[in-house]
Amino acid sequence: MSDTIFDKIIRRELPADIVYEDDDVLAFRDIHPQAPVHVLFVPKKSFATLNDCTEADAALLGKLLLAASAYAKREGFAEAGYRCVINCNRGGGQTVYHLHVHLMAGRQMPERMV
Ligand code: 5GP
Repeated sequence: MSDTIFDKIIRRELPADIVYEDDDVLAFRDIHPQAPVHVLFVPKKSFATLNDCTEADAALLGKLLLAASAYAKREGFAEAGYRCVINCNRGGGQTVYHLHVHLMAGRQMPERMV
C-alpha cells in the first residue's frame, strides 16, 4: 500500500477540506494555497508521478481534468479563467509523490509560468 499524505487523505486517515469526490477522483483544498482558489485533484488509484501512467490510464487522466473543469464551472470562475498544473519529479517541483492536478484561480495568473 502506498503511503503518501494524499493516500492517507483518500483513506480518511488525515483530515482535508474535501470539495469533490467520485469513484475515481478526490479533490480537496491545498493546505498552503497559492491563489484564492487552490484545489488538488487526486486519482484514488495511486501513481507516484505522471511518468507512471500508461495508455491504460488515459481515461482516468481525462477524468481528473474534467473534474477540475466541472468544479470551475460549478463554482462560477470557469469563464474568468484558471490554471491547472501537474508537477513531475523533483525538477518539476513535485513534493508529494501521488499524482495530482493543481487547480488555481481567483487571481490573475502570470503569463509566464515563473
Ligand atoms: P506538489 O509540490 O507535489 O506539486 O504539490 C503538493 C501540494 O500538496 C503542495 O501545494 C502542498 O501545499 C500540498 N500539501 C502538502 N501536504 C498537504 C496536506 O497535508 N494537506 C493538503 N490539503 N495539502 C497538502
